[in-house]
Amino acid sequence: MSMGKDTADTHIPMLDLGREYRAMKDDIDRAVQRCLSHQQWILGPEVQEFEAAAGRYLDVRHCIGASSGTEALVLALRALAIKREGREYFSRDEQIITTPFTFTATGDAILRAGATPVFVDIDPATFNIDVEKAREYLERAAMEKDRHARVVGILPVHLYGRPCDMDRIRQLAEEHGLFVVEDVAQAFGGAWKGRKLGSLGHCGAFSFFPSKNLGAFGDAGMVATDDDELAALLRMLLKHGGKDKYNVEHIGYNARLDTLQAAVLLAKLKYVDEFNDRRRRIAEAYSDQLRDVRGIALPVDAVPCRAVQGVPSHVHVPAGHVFHQYTLRVLDGKRDALQRFLQEQGIASMIYYPVPLHKMKVFDGGMSVAASSLPQAETACSQVLSLPIEPLLDQQEAGRVVSVIRSFFD
Ligand SMILES: *Cc1c(COP(=O)(O)O)cnc(C)c1O
Repeated sequence: MSMGKDTADTHIPMLDLGREYRAMKDDIDRAVQRCLSHQQWILGPEVQEFEAAAGRYLDVRHCIGASSGTEALVLALRALAIKREGREYFSRDEQIITTPFTFTATGDAILRAGATPVFVDIDPATFNIDVEKAREYLERAAMEKDRHARVVGILPVHLYGRPCDMDRIRQLAEEHGLFVVEDVAQAFGGAWKGRKLGSLGHCGAFSFFPSKNLGAFGDAGMVATDDDELAALLRMLLKHGGKDKYNVEHIGYNARLDTLQAAVLLAKLKYVDEFNDRRRRIAEAYSDQLRDVRGIALPVDAVPCRAVQGVPSHVHVPAGHVFHQYTLRVLDGKRDALQRFLQEQGIASMIYYPVPLHKMKVFDGGMSVAASSLPQAETACSQVLSLPIEPLLDQQEAGRVVSVIRSFFD
């Protein structure tokens, strides 16, 4: 990803952070200048201001800034472990259901909280966790009598900015007494039936990594929750585990949101809806202009798409997708060749993700469980290609991406 690079005429990067900065320069410069004058670098006023503004935006009682999205996930899980049974960490025979088709941090956070990830295959139409497969695993687990392991939670990921079916996930969680932690790293501003993502589970963990839909100028993250007790625990955990320095109750972290990052996020927050709309319009332009290209399958909700084996030809998805990525499937084993061809023409593209989590060494050797074989996740890894979806990309640039893809298949 060529972040922050100026766009040469011929080069189309995944994302052009310099272009975005220039579009909001006055707001950001003013915010940074304010920090330079007050010099309150640790939990300065901007942290609280950003947390309050994010809380209003998401309509949740508490937003707690964190040092990254990864730490936000770990903090959320640790707070749940403490709240549920007063234990600092989960035990290895406590399982948390998640998707193998995500960034490593999702599964890694489960390990760091002491629990065992259970990988459930994805729905090929949405790339998100297949809730029916999760249900099958839970029902099978309930029938095995002398089973030590028990499932305690589910961690859905709104991949590429696309909302998971939160009705079915919440219903399943209720039936089986599970907590829900949403990984909202890729979906700030996204919604499920009018409610903002990250406000539908017990906790929502956000990342403000620079390339995310709301991005800081470095690492940053946040946990959202409506639960007062979890919020109090989260606030302790992120600063060494105590109410104050000499009153330490839990095994904590130094995982605070940086003041300077909070200032930048506060300045950028007012642009996020407009920028998400821009992403949706680029997605529509891509889908509209690529729909008749043989050899690829489009994200199914932008326009009805070509049939792919195992994918229903039309899947209804409610509004609320924020297109963190615009991701195609390239069929017939041509993905890597298409990526090389785009590269030669000066067009960046990325593979999110080339390797599913269950194939990584860290999840080997009893550190994770596969609910079943995971063919859909593995197929996705071999087919997906994400195109540039810089919010400030203009129609002409999007048109160039389209024409290069068309010429590859001609
Ligand atoms: C980016 C990301 C994270 C981690 O966020 P960081 O801020 O980079 O630590 C977690 N999960 C998903 C799905 C992500 O895309």
